[in-house]
Amino acid sequence: MSRTPNIAIDGPAGSGKSTVAREVACRLGFLYVDTGAMYRAVTYLALRSSVDFSDEAALAALARKIKFSLVRYLKSGHVLLWCNGEDVTPYLRSQEVSQQVARVAAVPEVRHHLVKYQRLFAKGGGVVMEGRDIGTVVLPDAAYKFFLTASLEVRLARRERELMAQGRHVQRDELRKEFIFRDDMDRKREVGPLKVAPEAVVIDCSDLSVEEVVNRIVNRVETSSGGG
Ligand code: C5P
Repeated sequence: MSRTPNIAIDGPAGSGKSTVAREVACRLGFLYVDTGAMYRAVTYLALRSSVDFSDEAALAALARKIKFSLVRYLKSGHVLLWCNGEDVTPYLRSQEVSQQVARVAAVPEVRHHLVKYQRLFAKGGGVVMEGRDIGTVVLPDAAYKFFLTASLEVRLARRERELMAQGRHVQRDELRKEFIFRDDMDRKREVGPLKVAPEAVVIDCSDLSVEEVVNRIVNRVETSSGGG
């Protein structure tokens, strides 16, 4: 019997990857893995232990000590990321973490450690994994690869709505600076940069609803037999 395929979804900040990937996983009965949460977790733990963000060796040493696990909550069915036996989910979306995460993600040794875990999580197949380098580096053999884009203004508006729904408010200009800085660092780093995998289906989500994007991905998966 062939293995259940994996699905890679990449794209820049605020392109709607998380919402789309979670929904696709739910519709197909796959496991959803948010790799951005892993880079955010390293950043949160670095902030907590006052690691100097310009000290790459210290960031790498911190990352190497982290044991990641995915824990499924029986009541809600949600799968959350734990680090060293601690649920760090509530701390991953803070402004401090968002402002520093791209620096942490640019450290090759940090990436190396996290990519090992990401491949492990996807080993059995049946995973929807989202990030920046999933189709290119983490799962180059994924049966399905998608790259989501949207204009900067659409991405900013989307993130603003998400934050407001959580009762948080961030100035649009602050958010714009953060997105431009993060996307730029993510595109220009040497290891695992944000880029479109050659076989990826590019979906411009600027004028599409979440449901339309999810339908496109699910239809594609359901109508083609896929590879490994
Ligand atoms: O997806 P999210 O916006 O939460 O990712 C936060 C940051 O984590 C990104 O801006 C990027 O710096 C880093 N990241 C990465 N590679 C991934 C996923 C996220 O470098 N696969």
